[in-house]
Amino acid sequence: MKAGLESLIESGRVLTEPEELVTYAYDATEHRCLPEAVLRPVSEEEVVRIVRYAAEEGIAVTARGAGTSLSGCAVPCEGGIVIDMNLMGRIKAVDEANRLATVEPGVVYGRLNEELSSRGLFFPPDPGSGSVCTIGGMVSTNASGIRAVKYGTTRDYVQKLRVVTGSGEVVELGSLAPKSSNGYDLIGLFVGSEGTLGVVTEITLRLKKRPTSFAAASVSFGSMEEAGRAVGRIIARGLDPSVLELMDEATLRVVKLYQDIDVEGRAVLLMEMDGFTEEAVKERLEEAVRICTGTGAVEVKRASTESERTALWRARRAAFPSLARYRPTLVLEDVTVPISRLPEMLAEIERISGAHGIEIATFGHAGDGNLHPTMLVDSRNKAEMEQAKEAMDDLFRSALALGGTLTGEHGIGLSKKAYSRLEHGGAIEVMEQIKKVFDPKGIMNPGKGF
Ligand SMILES: Cc1cc2nc3c(=O)[nH]c(=O)nc-3n(C[C@H](O)[C@H](O)[C@H](O)COP(=O)(O)OP(=O)(O)OC[C@H]3O[C@@H](n4cnc5c(N)ncnc54)[C@H](O)[C@@H]3O)c2cc1C
Repeated sequence: MKAGLESLIESGRVLTEPEELVTYAYDATEHRCLPEAVLRPVSEEEVVRIVRYAAEEGIAVTARGAGTSLSGCAVPCEGGIVIDMNLMGRIKAVDEANRLATVEPGVVYGRLNEELSSRGLFFPPDPGSGSVCTIGGMVSTNASGIRAVKYGTTRDYVQKLRVVTGSGEVVELGSLAPKSSNGYDLIGLFVGSEGTLGVVTEITLRLKKRPTSFAAASVSFGSMEEAGRAVGRIIARGLDPSVLELMDEATLRVVKLYQDIDVEGRAVLLMEMDGFTEEAVKERLEEAVRICTGTGAVEVKRASTESERTALWRARRAAFPSLARYRPTLVLEDVTVPISRLPEMLAEIERISGAHGIEIATFGHAGDGNLHPTMLVDSRNKAEMEQAKEAMDDLFRSALALGGTLTGEHGIGLSKKAYSRLEHGGAIEVMEQIKKVFDPKGIMNPGKGF
């Protein structure tokens, strides 16, 4: 295959040595699979050549950004070619008048926002991996983060896409107009499709004006259910928080092992309001605090300066790394339910932990119903992993029974593939038909998703 590949792009950007391939065999999950070759294109034209070659030869193709996927979707589970998109990393244009940015897929989220900040603009989704993950990866997983409660997900910002389909055709989707009633929403199909329909080669994103005023508070509760109820009331009141994050007792206990933080209670809600005038922002925060007090809050800490806010966020930022230090293996889930069902989901997580004898620490973006129940286990302990698998099954079924979804932001990939039909039912067949239209040979990231 090597000689054929070197006719597609210059040989220095074709990797076939085992020690080079091994760094493309994994993502942030436990899944591992070696590709046969890695190609590093610098242009859309090169991507077209690679995909056409793969389609002719019937070789699997997996596009890859930073490889930070939490669902196994970046792992080339059928070998073949990995297309490493990182050399396509140019910010092509920032159009301030129309609040749009056009980028290549390898641009890192954090770098784009650094570039935009001097213009008073930003691209809000803010995944926890934002300092390394690529815009192409974010589009393909519909990534989001702590600000989704107010600003939505990547899907809400994709104005236009250029893609190379599985047969090597270049297709431009969308327009620059702020709205359009013309035709099917093909951008909607590509966002979250995990590289199974084609390779994204250019993205035009809608941008937001960067807020200038912030106020934040950390509120402790005697139980997760009370905290969950407070979340529902804050959202129902229309207070529009920019952050509404929840941490349970297990998470707080583990964070306290490694961090010198002073947090009371059995559940903590971290909230932030943003906007353009200090008074309005503070007023909204105070109303949210009143709701919390009326829902059983036991302690409130406010922060208005940058350094006070940073101190407040320390516990939340430390959650994932602290849990990772505490046990050898984390099974991090991201079930998402309607806000009004949050207290029930939280009670279900407690039941599941007890029923399967698995320690579960829960934190997450409660404001948009997205929880990260994290099973603290050890992959070397077979019996414990079996229990964790059963607990995961229980967790998914509970979320679906409450009208929720298996994944709010990490995607299906390999990790949740077996459960996809539980959520989609007969719609899976429709998705399979759609895939055939874009990828008739079935070469684009095969073995993933639905
Ligand atoms: C510590 C940590 C924190 C995280 N926090 C969050 C979070 O808060 N929110 C969240 O949503 N996710 C989070 N993630 C998951 C992950 O970072 C996101 O899904 C991210 O968007 C993936 O980007 P990436 O560049 O790493 O993509 P990759 O992992 O390389 O790829 C992800 C998927 O996109 C496809 N893909 C990549 N580029 C292209 C392209 N150009 N064309 C077509 N398909 C492509 C791949 O084939 C794969 O299916 C986190 C991960 C880690 C490790």
